[in-house]
Amino acid sequence: MTETMRAMVLERPGSPLRSVEMAVPRPGPGEVLVKVAACGVCRTDLHVVDGELPEPKLPLIPGHEIVGHVAALGEGVAGLRPGERVGVPWLGRSCGRCRYCRAGKENLCDRPGFTGYTIDGGYAQTCLADARYVFPLGQGAVAGGEARSAEEAAAPLLCAGLIGYRALKMAGEAEALGLYGFGAAAHIVAQLAAHEGRQVYAFTRPGDWAAQGFARQLGAVFAGDSDKPPPAELDAAILFAPVGALVPAALQAVRKGGIVVAAGIHMSDIPSFPYRLLWGERVLRSVANLTRADGEEFLALAPKVPVVTHTSAYPLQAANEALADLRSGALTGAAVLVP
Ligand SMILES: [Zn+2]
Ligand SMILES: [Zn+2]
Repeated sequence: MTETMRAMVLERPGSPLRSVEMAVPRPGPGEVLVKVAACGVCRTDLHVVDGELPEPKLPLIPGHEIVGHVAALGEGVAGLRPGERVGVPWLGRSCGRCRYCRAGKENLCDRPGFTGYTIDGGYAQTCLADARYVFPLGQGAVAGGEARSAEEAAAPLLCAGLIGYRALKMAGEAEALGLYGFGAAAHIVAQLAAHEGRQVYAFTRPGDWAAQGFARQLGAVFAGDSDKPPPAELDAAILFAPVGALVPAALQAVRKGGIVVAAGIHMSDIPSFPYRLLWGERVLRSVANLTRADGEEFLALAPKVPVVTHTSAYPLQAANEALADLRSGALTGAAVLVP
């Protein structure tokens, strides 16, 4: 008799996920089977489900903020034990041979695999992962505000936290740091930035008092509407909201030599803007994916801050509701599916 599991499956972009009963996959050589305890819902999942990213595997199990326990090891896996708590991130594999991989930039690999996009992810009771890209999570990776388990609390670290951490590094030495879009990633970055003695200026959708209050609670010195200028000049800004119009707004808000980092995988078109907004050696750049080194650094740092995640749990079968709440901005903090 084959064991079965429940998974939420995307059959066609633009249509809701379907709850499907399917066989539990078997780990091949170098793979690990993870029993999913929690899987965060990331904005990238929305872009995949809505058909805004070009080449998802179909049918697809989304989800790339996975925390669970090792259920079975494939042939040749070293360094992981059955029952061990692990995290599975967006970078599911890289080729190890292209110019980027050889230069330590596996986040830019020419032939990558991405969890929950080109590889089945964690909106399921179990998932497979390449053991070399899995992070062992010791005890107490993170404290959870409202989370009912350590796994639920840790799930948002696996992408929101990791990409946020990488974006924060790209923002350089900025003291006055703007965060545009105050969702799952920003709520973690705000804590890292405050821990490092930076001043966080949070910008939300105009009139989103809930998100602005949340930002202040997490140590932001200012929280306001993204369509208004900041009360002080910024040294850098990170854009988490997928809104192209925020690019010129952020360039306008940063000082000479300031850096604007676009941290999302997808963004609406950037409107044209006068060259003077970029003049003065301002820098505009994106951040793509993560390296395993980012993960190791960030997961070691998070308990020292300590990062406290704020999560809203949904049952696995309510994945469509979680995505809808993320789309409409009804969430503060991070949505997490708990199978
Ligand atoms: Zn590569
Ligand atoms: Zn993500």
